[in-house]
Amino acid sequence: MVLYVRKLFGGAWSLLVGLSITIREFGHTLFKRKAVTLQYPHEKPKLSPAYRSAIKLIRFDETNSHDCVACLACERICPSFCISIEGGKVEGIKKKRATKFEMDFALCSLCGLCLDVCPTTTLEYSKFYDEAGYNREWTFDLLEEFRDYEEQFVGEQLVREEKAAEAKKKKAAAAKAAKEAKKKKAAEAKAAEEAKAKAADAPTADGAEAKADAEPKKADAEPKKADAEPKKADAEPKKADAEPKKADADAAEGGDE
Ligand code: SF4
Ligand code: SF4
Repeated sequence: MVLYVRKLFGGAWSLLVGLSITIREFGHTLFKRKAVTLQYPHEKPKLSPAYRSAIKLIRFDETNSHDCVACLACERICPSFCISIEGGKVEGIKKKRATKFEMDFALCSLCGLCLDVCPTTTLEYSKFYDEAGYNREWTFDLLEEFRDYEEQFVGEQLVREEKAAEAKKKKAAAAKAAKEAKKKKAAEAKAAEEAKAKAADAPTADGAEAKADAEPKKADAEPKKADAEPKKADAEPKKADAEPKKADADAAEGGDE
């Protein structure tokens, strides 16, 4: 019985909690009028920075244009074969430029491989979300917004390249001068070291005296050798004395015969 009453009150409490949440949310909607929809197409949503749509070319502030050099790396790596590019060298400037950059949005899987391989990082995901395609050829011309600036870009690029060449020349000259100065300093240091070593080898007054002291010792050693000679000379007479004795013995032997 107690259990039955407890379950009854528990169920009633749960019902009241659920109803209170429903009434609170109804009040919010009724009095605060918090809209959860937009009046599209007059209102556009604020998209998250992570939102990804079909790729597009970046317009750089420094050049007011894209930086596609028509290397075709993105076209080659695209697994959906949805990029088509043409381009080449432009007269007057060193930089190559794309003259055609088309992309089939219907095929793009937004894998991002083209962004990864682009050497000039001129590709990014666009924020398109309300484009509509009415046939299978849903192609974007990504250069369309840049065509009017292309002539201006080429003129400015020429100036930029001239300035860069001048700066490179100056840098090379400065590097060469620094190298020469380093070489000269090393040669001076080597010469100073050699001079120091030479000065250390040259006989000093003390060194000469020391050598002079050493000479007499050698001279003292000579007499000892000279003293040794007479001893040898003294030994010779003894040998001479021995010879007559032998002669006397021979004579005595002759007499006995
Ligand atoms: S995002 Fe992927 S599928 Fe789309 S164009 Fe780039 S490489 Fe191709
Ligand atoms: S990889 Fe980059 S520079 Fe090369 S063609 Fe594609 S967009 Fe242009």
